[in-house]
Amino acid sequence: MVVNRMAYAGMILVGMILVQGCLVSRAHTRTEHISIDAALGKKGVIPIAVIGSGPAGLAAALYGGAAMMETVVFEGHEPGGLLTKTTLVENWPGILPKMGPAIMEDAREQAAHAGAHFIADMIIEIDTSAWPYRLKTENGEVYHALTIIIATGSSPRMLGISGEEQFMGYGVSTCALCDRGFFRDRQVVVIGGGDSAAEEAMQLSPYAVSVKLLVRKEAMRASARMQDRLRGHENVEILYNTQPMAILGVEGADKKVTAITLKDTALNKTYDMPIDGVFLAIGHIPNSWFLKGKVELDAEGHIVMQGRSQKSSVPGIYAAGEIEDKEYRQAGVAAGHGISAALDAVRFLTDIGFNKSMAAKMDILKIGAGADNAAHPDVQKISSLAEFEAISQGSDKPILVDFYTQTCPSCMAMLPLIAQLAAEYKDRVIVLKVDADEAADLVGLYHVLRVPCLLGFKDGQLCARYNKPMSLPELQEFVQNLL
Ligand code: NDP
Repeated sequence: MVVNRMAYAGMILVGMILVQGCLVSRAHTRTEHISIDAALGKKGVIPIAVIGSGPAGLAAALYGGAAMMETVVFEGHEPGGLLTKTTLVENWPGILPKMGPAIMEDAREQAAHAGAHFIADMIIEIDTSAWPYRLKTENGEVYHALTIIIATGSSPRMLGISGEEQFMGYGVSTCALCDRGFFRDRQVVVIGGGDSAAEEAMQLSPYAVSVKLLVRKEAMRASARMQDRLRGHENVEILYNTQPMAILGVEGADKKVTAITLKDTALNKTYDMPIDGVFLAIGHIPNSWFLKGKVELDAEGHIVMQGRSQKSSVPGIYAAGEIEDKEYRQAGVAAGHGISAALDAVRFLTDIGFNKSMAAKMDILKIGAGADNAAHPDVQKISSLAEFEAISQGSDKPILVDFYTQTCPSCMAMLPLIAQLAAEYKDRVIVLKVDADEAADLVGLYHVLRVPCLLGFKDGQLCARYNKPMSLPELQEFVQNLL
């Protein structure tokens, strides 16, 4: 397979921030007005802050770390980005075909080896009105960055049709690799005509009994090679000129998708097709909403680069990957741009007089070796309904159950937070985790159709459910509501 997708940093940004509402001037790209003294006395100073951990972010971290500048990567909800959702990658320069997640694991290890540090948190707000730039995270931490490399990539585009939001997690999904195990022997559709749709259809093919690929035009946009590979999957059928109009389903304890309303645009005919699952693969939108009014963006939300560089409109702030590149969208290009951004950031730091003796006067954020690893005891894992019943019958404490799959990057990012939560509430709440691929009875009984999926039980009854990645404050609120 040829992967010409540029992996994104996997940042699904939540919450609202204040938009400054002013146009960002292109003129402020010089460093003269920046005085290094402004960083003295600031707490938690980061010389190079990398936001996002896809190929662009990790390549930037590699070069930042290697330049001996304290480099910190904010990993976001989907560490490793889009490549972690692909299978075999054949066009990563310098290596023979290898699985996407393994490539990103190596890239992270390489960056860590070079000296970069990782924080499992997400930036939700940046303040560019004063330097050093203030960064606020989803978990409520505040840092001050001398330079920032934005590599937040993009998130799946939504259709905006009725039923899509209502049944997200109940049959509607944006990650075939994460959720395909829940659709064994079921009928599913994949919407889209690009390489992502082709890839998702092939990922689902061994699991679902039938996969219908719904393409709105009379031809697919996917590469000839991908279309060719698709032909080898007998249970995949392509329906052209087919536009989804609505997703239908039932509410209640067995809430689920039951059908999709489609319009055959060639025949001008609308009809309902019974199905169990809808996988969206209709492209991506840049993860830049938290940057509005902070750096110059184009009409689609991509960061505007200044000339042939990775510079944004704000001095010391750079970008790389799908957040700025709408032309090439290749993982290799993203990594190359990440390297350029790190070189730009290092040059900026040198230009403003940042060096070892200056660093010694600052409160540089120190992250010890291993600090990015789970610092809390592991959460108890169960794999069957019998185990769950034994625990729930033996205690009157509320129970929180976290369903994950190994192929779901946001689930894996959430596990350390679940461990932190378990430690915080250890005397009041029982916290359990379930690998959804190993516990068919629990998955079936509680209708888990998407991960991460959090279930809350009180007095033996299921009383709360959440089907999306969660921040630590959201998890804490979830638990508080159980008490
Ligand atoms: P694309 O933008 O290439 O394709 C999006 C598809 O969704 C198009 O077919 C588009 O239709 C369709 N679409 C958009 N909106 C709607 C809608 N409202 N209703 C129905 N259909 C809709 O995005 P991809 O994510 O597929 O690919 C992004 C980049 O990543 C590309 O460069 C691609 O090559 C690369 N990639 C490569 C992979 C690989 O090689 N293994 C895997 C995945 C991605 P239309 O064509 O009519 O506009």
